[in-house]
Amino acid sequence: MKIAILGGGISGTTLARLLAADGHRVVVLERDARPGGLCKSRKYGDFTFDEAGGHILFSKRKDVLQWQIERCGGEPGTVRKERNTKIRWHDRWVDYPFENGVGQLTKEATVECVSGYVEAHVQRRLGLQCPSNFLDWITWRMGEGFARHFMVPYNEKIWKCDLSTMSSGWVAGRVPEAPINDILKAAVGVSTEGYGHQSVFWFPKQGGFESLVIGTVRGGGFDLQCGTAVCEVRKDGDQFRVNGEPFDLVINTVPLQQIEGTIADIPDQIRADIRALKPISLINVMIGVKLAEPLPPLSWIYLPFADQGPTNRVTYYSNYSPDNAPAGHGSFLAEVTHRGELRPDAEWLRSVVGGLDRAGILRKEQVMLAEWCNNASAYIDQNLDFEARVGRVRNWFDHSGYITFGRFGRYEYHNSDQCIARAMEVHQHVRAIAASGDPARPQFSPS
Ligand SMILES: Cc1cc2nc3c(=O)[nH]c(=O)nc-3n(C[C@H](O)[C@H](O)[C@H](O)COP(=O)(O)OP(=O)(O)OC[C@H]3O[C@@H](n4cnc5c(N)ncnc54)[C@H](O)[C@@H]3O)c2cc1C
Repeated sequence: MKIAILGGGISGTTLARLLAADGHRVVVLERDARPGGLCKSRKYGDFTFDEAGGHILFSKRKDVLQWQIERCGGEPGTVRKERNTKIRWHDRWVDYPFENGVGQLTKEATVECVSGYVEAHVQRRLGLQCPSNFLDWITWRMGEGFARHFMVPYNEKIWKCDLSTMSSGWVAGRVPEAPINDILKAAVGVSTEGYGHQSVFWFPKQGGFESLVIGTVRGGGFDLQCGTAVCEVRKDGDQFRVNGEPFDLVINTVPLQQIEGTIADIPDQIRADIRALKPISLINVMIGVKLAEPLPPLSWIYLPFADQGPTNRVTYYSNYSPDNAPAGHGSFLAEVTHRGELRPDAEWLRSVVGGLDRAGILRKEQVMLAEWCNNASAYIDQNLDFEARVGRVRNWFDHSGYITFGRFGRYEYHNSDQCIARAMEVHQHVRAIAASGDPARPQFSPS
């Protein structure tokens, strides 16, 4: 088949590689000058930074992790790191997840968190139903102490909204429930492991996270057309046309709100649903510092409080690979979410650096480089209407003959490893189409 893939991020390039290996003619149309999307990295002098905030290589699926590492040059091309993440909680560094660090808070806060957790545990055992909104979910799952001391301030900072307007559905599979025993152990100072599957991770030795995409494109056997925005897509009988060129199959990975206007066949109601799927944007501040001594061996930290500046998460990026910063220097990525309104200027950059200084992460006078990069689509706005709305959109695509996937191509809260896993699934689906020879394409029904 002659297949068009819209968007050259990790989703589009992975699928292209898989389909090209089956002998299909695959064309990837990418708007930007180079592929990578949210996985892109950039250089300032001898510093390398990831554009969309801190990215790491890891996967619960062994085959996917192996695929990622292979694309980055195997073990010699990657650095294996122990995860060391903390929360900057007022004057102290507390282990992450917060439940695991509960014994490191003030005594009063530890008691409030543990008693609230036990109370919430009992209420659930007595049959208290899972609330539909995120704010109530936090107390239902974690109790009032954890809510007040971390979960609510941190989540308000990242999501930039009243948490009661967010759905609880998205957290269900993402936030593992800490056994009550672990909380009690942590409270009296016995260390517990936390999220086991992320306790180690990998990172490309050179070139930043973008190396994953470069290794996916290299020798991929497909036609990557950069600087080629998709402007017009339509069905033409059993065929498709993209920017006027005929294709047997079209697979989209471009954020839906950016591609919707180009696809002629989308019904008005679905179009309205797509326009209402608002992404949350993220400004990533890339900071280079001169160091008198090495940075502490941290991976990333969470900043829940307003006096720490607008940043919600900081990656100790030069700790990921020695190649990320020149000798005698270090680097950070400071992530600040927004809802489309933020226009950084020098004063705002100073407020980011000042917040990190107050939080004890760096000293202002060490900073020799502070640049920023806006990412229009970074997180999904999980409002109360989201599930129903995205359900209608996915359903239309899955029955239309088009296939759509990717973090914003399907509005799934996927990391790159899950995008790769989805690409493997779409690959199998296309194999089934090719084998059946049926022009009325079977429905795409991902797991
Ligand atoms: C803050 C943050 C931290 C993250 N951390 C991690 C992590 O630690 N590990 C991990 O694995 N993942 C992480 N992720 C997730 C990861 O970045 C995404 O899952 C992945 O990059 C999504 O890839 P994609 O190809 O689906 O979409 P995108 O990367 O969004 O690709 C879509 C592509 O479509 C192109 N495009 C747009 N409009 C057009 C058009 N009209 N025509 C043609 N092309 C167009 C874009 O230029 C882009 O290249 C993180 C994401 C964020 C925001």
